[in-house]
Amino acid sequence: MNIVILLGAPGSGKGTVAGRLASENANLKHVSSGDLLRGAVAKGTPAGVEAKGYMESGNLVPDALIAQMIKDVVAETTGDVTMLLDGFPRNLAQAKILEEMGAPIRSAVLIDVPDEIIQDRISGRRTCPKCKAGYHVRNLPPKVEGICDVCGEKLTIRKDDNPETVKDRLVVYHRETEPLIEFYKAKNLLKVVDGTAALDLVAKAFSGNM
Ligand code: AMP
Repeated sequence: MNIVILLGAPGSGKGTVAGRLASENANLKHVSSGDLLRGAVAKGTPAGVEAKGYMESGNLVPDALIAQMIKDVVAETTGDVTMLLDGFPRNLAQAKILEEMGAPIRSAVLIDVPDEIIQDRISGRRTCPKCKAGYHVRNLPPKVEGICDVCGEKLTIRKDDNPETVKDRLVVYHRETEPLIEFYKAKNLLKVVDGTAALDLVAKAFSGNM
C-alpha cells in the first residue's frame, strides 16, 4: 500500500477527482476525512458527537480524533493499493502523525484553485448523501436535476457549504493547511496541478502526476 495525498482548498475539486479515479481503477482507494467524519456524525458515534460542532462552524476537528480514524483505515488497507488521501493531513501536526504511521507517501499533489473561484464552486456544489458522488449545478450537473446519476438518491447541499462558513474554511485552509505545500516541497514530494480546468482535464493531469 502507498499513499498519494491530495492538497487543495475546500472546493478545489480534489474529492471529485479522487472519487472519479478510484471508481475507474480497482487499485486506487479514495479516503476522504470529511466523509469519514460525516459518516460518524450521521451514526451518532462518540467521535461524531464530538466532531459535529467543529464541522458546522468550519473549524478543524481535534487532530487525535481524525488521526485515529485515518489510522484505522491505513491499518485495514493492504496489498497493491494506492490510497488517495483527501482532506488529511490538514496541518503540520497531522502530517507528522501520518509519517509516524509508517505507510509510504508517494507524492502530495496540490490541486491549485484561486479563492475567487472556490466561492462560486462551493455555492453550486451538490452531493449525493448515499454514494458521495459530487456535482455542480453549472459545471457538472447531474442528468436529472437534483438526482444522483450513480445511485438515484436525492442530492443535498452540505450544511457547511454556505458562503459564511466557506469564508471561514478558507481562512482555516490558508492558516493551517497551506504550510503543508512547503513541507512536502522540502521533501521533494510536491506536485502541482492546475485545478481551474474542466474536471476531465484535472483528473487526467492528476493521474499523470501522482
Ligand atoms: P471536507 O469534506 O474535507 O471539506 O471536511 C469537512 C469538515 O470536516 C472540515 O471543515 C473540518 O471541520 C472537518 N475535517 C475534515 N478533515 C479534517 C482533518 N484532517 N482535520 C480536522 N478536521 C477535518
